[in-house]
Amino acid sequence: MKKNLAFDFDDVLCDTTKAFLLFHKKKYGSTIPYTTAKVVLYKNLHISEKEEDKRWNEFFQDTTFCYPAPSKNLIEILQILKKDYRLIVISARDKKWQYNVFSWIEKYVPNVFEEIIFLDSRGVKKSKGMICRKNKTIALIEDDPEHIKSCVDFEMPVIVFDRPWNKKLKKSIPRIKSLSQIKKILSTKF
Ligand SMILES: [Mg+2]
Repeated sequence: MKKNLAFDFDDVLCDTTKAFLLFHKKKYGSTIPYTTAKVVLYKNLHISEKEEDKRWNEFFQDTTFCYPAPSKNLIEILQILKKDYRLIVISARDKKWQYNVFSWIEKYVPNVFEEIIFLDSRGVKKSKGMICRKNKTIALIEDDPEHIKSCVDFEMPVIVFDRPWNKKLKKSIPRIKSLSQIKKILSTKF
């Protein structure tokens, strides 16, 4: 039986933050350099948390921005991995914006993922570490330090997807800069 290999959605499969910052520049005339971006952006953008939420809502309603196309080779990479693993998505995306995840996957990488699991489902919020353990994942590819930590806490293998906001994590956690490196890292470190 194939083992589950899990992917985070935002900023791993889909360049969501990059697209949001572009949207922000166009709509509000200001942005921050991507290299200084954090997981939560309101402090950097000098707005309130509520205002950030409002702007994300606007972003997700603007299909020209909220569907950034993936890199050209993403589908090829996933199809190769699919031969050896059961691919799943584990996303912490807020309930009100989850539908975009389905549309994006359907549009750009159809028939690749066996399952899409959201942390916020049926009113119960689980951690990614918990979900990985339940699904016995061989690894989760993740960018968010909070979720990476939850995998470490649950002793579940995690691969850091290199992003400006996760540079300070322990060097001992495997890290990749491109999804094309997954196959190699899985064969050498797991
Ligand atoms: Mg993410």
